[in-house]
Amino acid sequence: MEVAKEVHAVKIPFKLAVGSGKTLERFVYAYIIYGRKICLVDSGVSSSFGVIADHVRQMGRDPRDINRLVLTHAHPDHMGGARTVQKETGCQVAAHALDKPWIEDVDLQYRQRPILNLYSLVEGSLKVDQDLRDGDTLDLGEGLLLRVIHTPGHSKGSICLVLEPNGMLFSADAIPMRGAVPIYDDVLSSINSIRRLKAWKGLKTLLASWDEPRHGEKVYSLMEEGLLHFQQLHDLVRRIKAESPDADLTAFASRVLNAMNLPQTALIPIVIRSLEAHLRVADRENLIA
Ligand SMILES: [Zn+2]
Repeated sequence: MEVAKEVHAVKIPFKLAVGSGKTLERFVYAYIIYGRKICLVDSGVSSSFGVIADHVRQMGRDPRDINRLVLTHAHPDHMGGARTVQKETGCQVAAHALDKPWIEDVDLQYRQRPILNLYSLVEGSLKVDQDLRDGDTLDLGEGLLLRVIHTPGHSKGSICLVLEPNGMLFSADAIPMRGAVPIYDDVLSSINSIRRLKAWKGLKTLLASWDEPRHGEKVYSLMEEGLLHFQQLHDLVRRIKAESPDADLTAFASRVLNAMNLPQTALIPIVIRSLEAHLRVADRENLIA
C-alpha cells in the first residue's frame, strides 16, 4: 500500500497461539522507505522477507538496496523476520539498547515474556548493529531524515520514528486503540510516551503497526483517544479489584476482559501482565490528569 511516493506499507498476517490449540488472527504492518537506499521499519514475523522483497522488486529496485532495518521494539511481530533480512541484504540493524537483549537472545525473551508460539513467529536471535537513543537522527539520503523518539511503556526499549520532512509518525504499538487487547509493561510510561508524541508539532500522518494510515487531525485525536483508553481501562481495573479484592490474578483478569467485551481467548500471560501494570498503580485514581 502506498502511503506516499517514498513510503509503503506491507500488511503481514499471522496467528497468535493462545492455548488449547486456539489462535487469534492478527496482522502487523512493516514499512518500506524508499530513499537513496531502502530503509525498513520492522520486519514482520518469520518468513516475511519474501513479501517485502517482492514489493521492492515491483518498485523496480533491488532487495539488496535495503541497507537499514530499524526495529521499533523486540516483539516477535516486529523482529520475527529480521534474521533473513539481515542475511539476504547485509543491512545494518538498529534498535533501542533497552530492547536489544530480547532481539539478540530470543530464548531470554521467551523466558521473560512467554508467548506460546514465539518460536514459530521468530526466525531466531540476531545481532543489533546500531544502538538507538532518544533524539538520534538517521539520514536516509534524498533529504529524508528519520528521528528517533524513545517511547517506553509497551516495552522498555520501544521507539517511535518521525520521517521528515513528510511529518509521518511510525508509532509501532505505542498508541492503543479503543477496544484493543491491552499489551504493555508499564502503563505510566505508556501514558508519558503518548504525551511526548502529542507534543511533537507538525505530524501529518500516523502509521501504526496494526492500523491503516491516518491523516490530518486524526493523528493527534487518536493519541488523545489512546490516553482516554488507558484511563477507562484503569477505572475498570480499580472497580473490579474493589468488587472482588480476593480474586486471584487470572480470575480478576478474566472479569476485566468480560467487562471489556473481549473474548476469554485473550486471557494470556502478556495481557495479564498489562493488567498487573494497572494494579501496581491502583492507588492512583487519575492517570492522565
Ligand atoms: Zn509489540
